Amino acid sequence: MIRVSGPATREVLRLLPPGGTRRGGGETGSHTSHASLRVRHREVLPTRFVCPTTGQTLDRGLFLWFDRPNSFTGEDLCELHVHGSLAVVKAVLLALGTLSPPGGEHKSGGVGVETGVVRHAEPGEFTLQAFRNNKLDLTEAEGLGDLLRAETEAQRRQALAIAGGSLRTLYSGWRTTLRKAHAHCEASLDFGEDDEIGNDVFLSLAPIVNSLLSELRLHLAAPPIGEMTRSGVRVALIGPPNAGKSSLLNALAGRPVAIVSDVPGTTRDAVEVGLDLNGHKVLVTDTAGARETNDAVELEGIKRSKQHARDADVVVLVVDGASMSGVETLPKWAMDTAHAVVLNKADLLEGGVEKNDWRGILNPLNPNLLAATTLSLSCATGNGIDAFVEWLRVTVAARVDGTAGDGAGICAITRSRHRGRLEECVVHLARFESAAACASGRHEVAAEELRLAQRALGHVTGHVDVEELLDVIFRDFCIGK
Ligand code: GDP
Repeated sequence: MIRVSGPATREVLRLLPPGGTRRGGGETGSHTSHASLRVRHREVLPTRFVCPTTGQTLDRGLFLWFDRPNSFTGEDLCELHVHGSLAVVKAVLLALGTLSPPGGEHKSGGVGVETGVVRHAEPGEFTLQAFRNNKLDLTEAEGLGDLLRAETEAQRRQALAIAGGSLRTLYSGWRTTLRKAHAHCEASLDFGEDDEIGNDVFLSLAPIVNSLLSELRLHLAAPPIGEMTRSGVRVALIGPPNAGKSSLLNALAGRPVAIVSDVPGTTRDAVEVGLDLNGHKVLVTDTAGARETNDAVELEGIKRSKQHARDADVVVLVVDGASMSGVETLPKWAMDTAHAVVLNKADLLEGGVEKNDWRGILNPLNPNLLAATTLSLSCATGNGIDAFVEWLRVTVAARVDGTAGDGAGICAITRSRHRGRLEECVVHLARFESAAACASGRHEVAAEELRLAQRALGHVTGHVDVEELLDVIFRDFCIGK
């Protein structure tokens, strides 16, 4: 499908034959005007596509027309559905490239570049245009971007809901409340000579702002399901060198993504693999083995492991369950953060690791570890891997619960950018409350806080100057969106 948008889109009608759609039809008239007459908003036209200069038929397909402002971009927009071969697409694009502005002269500037009126779109340019024409707000545009990149079922559901306006509805409701409250404040400052009037206005706004503040705080305090669904639930594999962390990652991924080696300290930097675990994206990180060392490079790796464990949503401590080696020199952070202990290399002990007094070894080191789930397995034979995957599936699902269903009600924060701005909004609303509660004289300050709160929310939805953000947001889109 070739999509064209912009003020000169009507020129594309010159690729339709004069009166010659596939079904026939009795249109007559000049080469340009007849076509303009026969296309109607949202109508599908089976047609030949011809070269406007030679009249040669390039392909047969479907032509769709959308009148501005009722198109995706808000501009005149058309779609040419052609057979997708390289030769057809190339011929149609060449024909589009020959289109010149009305009057026939090739001009530079405007929609076209040097030679004509049609040029290739930049990645995300259609959506950017839609945003500029108020067809969608920034949360919807970002949701659409997420939908284009969705890898898992949960991501698809969430992105679809947000692209469909779930966050827009929520935030625009809050913006309306703030706008009205701010307008009242400004009006009372401008016209309320009398301090009494000012006080009344600020008093009457207090419950409204307070309930908005509660809503925002609840929204922010909810578990970060949206962010986890979007970016993936982070699982860190930590443990002493040689315990089998890389082997476990490989077993999980079903492909050799991490270095498996029996030289301790090989995995000096984190290796990450993305998994789809029952519709949820999971990012498993194999970290450098945690142990006492003086090697500068290894130390850096261990520092990063610690950071990964801190950032992770689920931390799995992998140990060699047969020898329990390296366990006694595990740093405290490694033991404190673990949600599960995997006792690997069960194949090396006859009767399994249960024969081992691992409890007796772990307990004096850190009694917390006994509270963590313990699973014994063998990466070498594969025994116990399925049980571990099942544990991980349940644990991950518990973290991202709430994304089930058709997703229509999903109103989760999906980005740290949003979170930061919403927190900023809360700060200003709280400051408004204290300023408004003061005796007169602080009303200007209170009104200013409302303006800043509104501005912070506007940054999320794209209703204030977000020019510097647009490049970052839209450059990840594919061309044609
Ligand atoms: P890491 O340093 O914790 O990432 O450990 P690796 O995954 O590199 O494994 C270290 C060594 O232990 C390698 O030689 C592996 O082949 C071996 N190994 C890993 N898992 C098992 C297992 O379940 N049983 C046996 N016998 N050897 C294993």
